[in-house]
Amino acid sequence: MTLSFFASKDLRARLAWLRSVLPFAVFLGVLLYELSKFLFSPNLTENLHFFLDLVVYGTIGPVTIWFTINWISQRVEESEKALAAKAQAEREQERAVQAAHEQERLLATVCSNSADAIITLDNDGIIQTWNRGAEMIFGYSADEVVGKHFRIIIPPDIDSRGEVEWLANQVKQDGFIRNYETERIAKDGRRVGVDLTRTQLQNEQGEVIGSSAILRDITERVRTEQAIQKMNLELETKVAERTTQLASATETLRRRNVELERANQELQKLDELKSEFVSMVSHELRAPLTNINGSIELLLEGDAPCYDRQHRDLLHIVGEQSARLTRLVQGILNVSRIEAGHLVLQPQAFNIVGLIEKVIGVWESRDVSNPFEHPRAENLPSVWADRDRTEEVLFNLIDNAIKYSAEGTSIRIDAESNGKFMLVSVSDQGVGIPSDEVQKIFDKFHRVDRGDSSETYGHGLGLYICRRLVEAQGGQISVDSILGEGSTFRFSLPLAGRGEMELGGARRVSSGGRK
Ligand code: ADP
Repeated sequence: MTLSFFASKDLRARLAWLRSVLPFAVFLGVLLYELSKFLFSPNLTENLHFFLDLVVYGTIGPVTIWFTINWISQRVEESEKALAAKAQAEREQERAVQAAHEQERLLATVCSNSADAIITLDNDGIIQTWNRGAEMIFGYSADEVVGKHFRIIIPPDIDSRGEVEWLANQVKQDGFIRNYETERIAKDGRRVGVDLTRTQLQNEQGEVIGSSAILRDITERVRTEQAIQKMNLELETKVAERTTQLASATETLRRRNVELERANQELQKLDELKSEFVSMVSHELRAPLTNINGSIELLLEGDAPCYDRQHRDLLHIVGEQSARLTRLVQGILNVSRIEAGHLVLQPQAFNIVGLIEKVIGVWESRDVSNPFEHPRAENLPSVWADRDRTEEVLFNLIDNAIKYSAEGTSIRIDAESNGKFMLVSVSDQGVGIPSDEVQKIFDKFHRVDRGDSSETYGHGLGLYICRRLVEAQGGQISVDSILGEGSTFRFSLPLAGRGEMELGGARRVSSGGRK
């Protein structure tokens, strides 16, 4: 009984125990007290008896009652606390259960409304659930497919390749398969590209109860990828074709180059031959021409009576034509020397104004009708150039100015320094040059076709030689012209000091350059 009191935590059981034991215990206590009083202290006075009774009954009774009630109130309190804690725990459990249900519902809503197909299968591959996404992708309603094997959405050719078994094995082996790209077939026979993730499902006991499959429609993506792949392939083919074409073009070009080089070499040889021939012929012509010129001069100087006016006129004509021929031969010789690199320049410092005056003097002695204007400035710096070649350039430019101007119109020669170069110009008021010809007149044998070429004698060599001579001395030559109003030819030559540093002493005019 005692044991059951301490063992039991149930308040009601404890109270029941107390109800039956307490009166008996009180009775036993009173009995023992009275007996002890009778046995051990029979001689006590009445008053002492009364005092003892008062102590025993007045103390033990209230103390027992106090302890009992106190004990009961403690137990009731404990019990209330336990009940409250239990209620609290129950409430929390209920809340947890509700939250779990809520999550489940949410998950179920997500699953059923997902745009991806979410399917659950049992261990035999029989469809258990089929969400809205699956309905949209494959066109089957849940009623049509739940309870059927998922082969219903596998294309026969893929099925015959054993994909169903392979997938089952993979899932069995690893527990899942992720992002497996394959094809499924919709209700209307349409093939759907899918990205499949399949996961094994287990119950709480760890037994495999089936699998879930999430299928994402990737038809569009696959189509785009295929298109890109196709484009890539086409591109690669085109690149390959182009590369082949390019290779063959390069080969053709290489062969052409070789041929061209060969032709060029032959041409060069021919050119050399031609130059040699021209040079030889010119040399051969120069000597007799000098003799003819000399003889005619002598004849004209002489005052032989056998020459009447007609004879003298004829001799003048012969002299003029012979002089022309001499100039042509001289020009050809110059060109072939320049092009063969045989023309040697002897640069020196000299006063350009002095040279201009000398050339003008030569022309004036020839009785030309055009008056000359020229610089008198004596404080111009010296130039660094080949004096004879510069004279040749000046002579040529003045010759042209006279040739292409009307009689009596003035010709102006100027010289000014810009600190680095001496700029020499020859201006006339002649026929001018058409703008489309301006660049070409410095080319070899180029003459402006004016429809009256018979009137102005020439060979198109003068300006070419001038250009080569000026450029060989580190200068440049150009022309400004207005058709019908006149032209200004300008050429530059380095100033002494600068030219010496850059050009040095005697040097050859190299071949090549513009034709
Ligand atoms: P050409 O012997 O024909 O004068 P050039 O080389 O000296 O050969 O001149 C080339 C061409 O430039 C000439 O045919 C001529 O038409 C043109 N030309 C040269 N100088 C002048 C000029 N001062 N005025 C007009 N045309 C000119």
